[in-house]
Amino acid sequence: MKPKFGFIRARLQDIKKADLYRRLVLNRVAGPYIIVGKKRLVNLSSNDYLGLGATKVSQAQLQSSSRLVAGNDEVFSRLESKLARHKYQQAALVFPTGYMANLGIISILPQKGDLILSDELNHASIIDSCKLSHARKMIYKHNDMSDLENKLAKKNKRKFVITEGIFSMNGDFSKLKDITKLCMQHNAILILDDAHGDFVAGPDGRGTGARLGVAKKIDVYISSLSKGLGAFGGYVASRNEVIDLAVNTSRPFIYTSALPNFLVQAALDKLSSRREQKRKKLWKNIELARKGLKSCGYNIDSQSQIIPIIIGNEKKAVEFGRYLFANGIYAQPIRYPTVEHGSARIRLSITAWLSSYDIIRSIDVFGRAGKKFGIT
Ligand code: PMP
Repeated sequence: MKPKFGFIRARLQDIKKADLYRRLVLNRVAGPYIIVGKKRLVNLSSNDYLGLGATKVSQAQLQSSSRLVAGNDEVFSRLESKLARHKYQQAALVFPTGYMANLGIISILPQKGDLILSDELNHASIIDSCKLSHARKMIYKHNDMSDLENKLAKKNKRKFVITEGIFSMNGDFSKLKDITKLCMQHNAILILDDAHGDFVAGPDGRGTGARLGVAKKIDVYISSLSKGLGAFGGYVASRNEVIDLAVNTSRPFIYTSALPNFLVQAALDKLSSRREQKRKKLWKNIELARKGLKSCGYNIDSQSQIIPIIIGNEKKAVEFGRYLFANGIYAQPIRYPTVEHGSARIRLSITAWLSSYDIIRSIDVFGRAGKKFGIT
């Protein structure tokens, strides 16, 4: 290899030495299972929480243009009206991904002289979005209301609070009741990334705001269509003027190609489908998994479909994952920088795809793994 690429090899070497090297593994998802090579494993790493199943693709069309130019198929507006109603908001705007929805909104709302207050466990896409803003940024301790309150007392022109609904790596719910109260008291704008709570939590799957009775107090919702809904894309739901500003100024919305219409149609079909039965099954599965893991001696705090098993050491987490794999369970270890150094974990995500049999079988493997690795 050319010497000028030596620095890249050195960086990769450092990643390997720290047990943080990642590689892409070929796999194929099939309902509750995942096929890796010749092995079929129970998939405990899927964000398709409701397992709504495949949709028929017809009239597949690649817009091959941005939405403002020639890519605004009429199916977008049908989906967006429904998403706005789903979140009790005036309007919604679909982005190609949830990541881009965060980039596209957080980069345009807080201005120079404003203050962004972001939970310390917020997702990478929120962190990256904050970097794009010229506002001052402060991190408040995870779900710590007195820290948030202290920071809200700062004298800035406008204040924005950004939190996730269900935290993606811990599975805990944000204290939205308290946060909405504090935002009202301090006249702050609340942005909620509900990627993991949307379609999963609250009545009719309207999300974490609805679960805690504060849905209408959220100023700006950001979410993904690729998780609970099992489709693809991202969206923002808010007041008309927020959506209007995004269409006019949001670079990740303007300067990229529109989602293909069949993906928008798939999201619309799934949004209109009977989701409630699947949602109930999901919550039954979550209860079954939590109880089972607790009975094996695991300390489970999570109340949601995301259940972290904290291992700590990165190498041990990888070995734990390998043991699960060898025993028919697919649950990926999560390491730094996705989570803090020394807090590597197996992130279980429970879905409605799973049968009770799959869950009980998985718990049995986790029971053995817990003892073998000294976790339980
Ligand atoms: N926000 C959070 C909290 C997430 O966990 C993710 C994806 N892991 C995203 C946003 C990005 O969503 P998408 O996959 O649709 O880009």
